[in-house]
Amino acid sequence: MEKNIYDIEIKEELGVEYSKESSIFKIWSPFADNVYLNFYKYGEGDSFINRYELEKNDDGLWRVLVEGDLEGIYYTYTICHAQSTNEVVDIYAKALGLNGERGMIVDLSKTNPEGFYECKPQPFKRINDAVIYEVHIRDFSICETSGMENKGKFLALTKEGTKNIFGDSTGIDHIKQLGITHVHLLPIFDYATVNEAEYKFDEYNWGYDPKNYNTPEGSYATNSNDGYVRIKEFKELVMALHKNNIRVVMDVVYNHTYMTENSFFNHTVPDYYYRKRDGKFTNGSGCGNETASEHLMMRKFILDSVKYWAKEYMIDGFRFDLMGLHDIETMNLICDELEKIDEDIIVYGEGWVGGDSALPYETRAVRDNCDKTPKIAYFNDIFRDVVKGNVFNFSDKGYANGGGYLEESVKLSVLGCVENTLIDYSKTQRRPFAKSPKQVINYIEAHDNLTLWDKLYYSCPHSDERTREDMDKLAASIVFLSQGIPFIQAGQEFLRSKPSSTQRDKYEENSYNLSDFTNSIKWTKKSKYKNIFNYYKGLIELRKNHILFRLDNAQEIDKKITFLNDLPPFVVGYKLRDENEEIVVIFNPSNEDISIEGDFKGYKVYVNKYYAGNKSIFEINEEKIFVQDLSAYVLIKG
Ligand code: CA
Repeated sequence: MEKNIYDIEIKEELGVEYSKESSIFKIWSPFADNVYLNFYKYGEGDSFINRYELEKNDDGLWRVLVEGDLEGIYYTYTICHAQSTNEVVDIYAKALGLNGERGMIVDLSKTNPEGFYECKPQPFKRINDAVIYEVHIRDFSICETSGMENKGKFLALTKEGTKNIFGDSTGIDHIKQLGITHVHLLPIFDYATVNEAEYKFDEYNWGYDPKNYNTPEGSYATNSNDGYVRIKEFKELVMALHKNNIRVVMDVVYNHTYMTENSFFNHTVPDYYYRKRDGKFTNGSGCGNETASEHLMMRKFILDSVKYWAKEYMIDGFRFDLMGLHDIETMNLICDELEKIDEDIIVYGEGWVGGDSALPYETRAVRDNCDKTPKIAYFNDIFRDVVKGNVFNFSDKGYANGGGYLEESVKLSVLGCVENTLIDYSKTQRRPFAKSPKQVINYIEAHDNLTLWDKLYYSCPHSDERTREDMDKLAASIVFLSQGIPFIQAGQEFLRSKPSSTQRDKYEENSYNLSDFTNSIKWTKKSKYKNIFNYYKGLIELRKNHILFRLDNAQEIDKKITFLNDLPPFVVGYKLRDENEEIVVIFNPSNEDISIEGDFKGYKVYVNKYYAGNKSIFEINEEKIFVQDLSAYVLIKG
């Protein structure tokens, strides 16, 4: 080969181009001496049919055209390098056999539920109009309390009308009731660690262990032997959500693969797809390797894959795991390409890395480089830690659970950590990072770390449950009333907990491979903590109905928000104002009821310690308000 491998960029589509008459197979493997295509009757076992030899061009692209209708045949490639010969799955495979060990040739036009591409959610324009809800497919339905059918599967999320034993809605109806706009699914592409064949009751994983990127995970399908089923059933899930005006975000994990030396990528083009230093794989993911998005064919792979999910599966958003391991140029290209497909697609991610990465800091898509990725939103870990305390120190407290002098940091969080002229930074060590509220995902609970409820337990061991409920509601108020994009984990709205299965009064944080006992959502809690659920629902409703909570840019923040002065210790208050209305928000994290004097007469109350919603509960008729301990208070005049 004459060219430098790092200059090669194959423009045409890779993978299988299927038609009834013939299929074309293309794979890029520039160092191989020979490449063979193997056909099998089944996705596993001894069912070999025959094999074809591929032909190579100058850029290392191998191809073969096979006559006839190959639908339903399973396939692999045998790639012969001087050092070794390996049988691999096509990294572009669009369908898979059991456990992702063979690709499958399918007619994708047969996988669409009726009306799939016509069934679109209502138009959506601004990312900060979103309310994001993080769901793990199995967690969401597997508990016997869910009242859902097809527990643990994609199909569980397709059925309307499901209820728990107390008659409260579960599943898709619950999501609708809460007012969520985007369901963010933990990995649903094919991952490695759950055996799809003998699916044991206790086999579980979050799915951050990628095996094949362009096909849904088999253990979430009712039948993982037939490659068609997982595709059809995942599309049914997407369509059911779309029909209910709920959008679907995929959690994508292109930053590493489960296997390293023996991954399909590495056997196809040895060493090319990963970063290395001194001849060794670098481990920026903390999972043994990191992919090299700056290498043109890896960049192409990520772009092709994301575009494929957006078009074929109508995916509405992508959450990039360890996005700091991807280079800024690749991330910006992804946004540009997705915008061409559908300008409503949202992109956000974790603006950090998981280990010592070989990617130069200035080229990483990390939080502090976010000025170079204007279309991408970043998880706001400053907000998270200010509101509930440091996630790595269980006993550490934040603003909502007795953390003390955090007023200036809370002001920064309320502004979504967007650069502004409103805050005196001499009083806080924390600094804004975002240029715009559209770049910030505000959250206090996600699959990583303790749930909020468990964090409150560990950080406030001497408080009673009622007090912790109040802390929870106060913390949630800060999430939904702040500038930026609110994000919650499924079940957070009724005090989700992850109890240890082995020890009493112990709660799990890194539960990625633990049992359903720990991870499942217990749906009877929705009825037990109806007050909490209603409070979250009310906050979402309020946020959606007032544009002032969803300001467009930093200039608007400077213009439309003012902080209240001379408040009692620990209390933060601010006013939002436009030509139509004025909103006053007060957070009182102290144990004392307080009164505040001011020009409040004529305002109506929409949020207090017990209620949140878009209907006011009473009107203020004096120049003074009373805010109870550990609570949020919202007044609106307009
Ligand atoms: Ca799998």
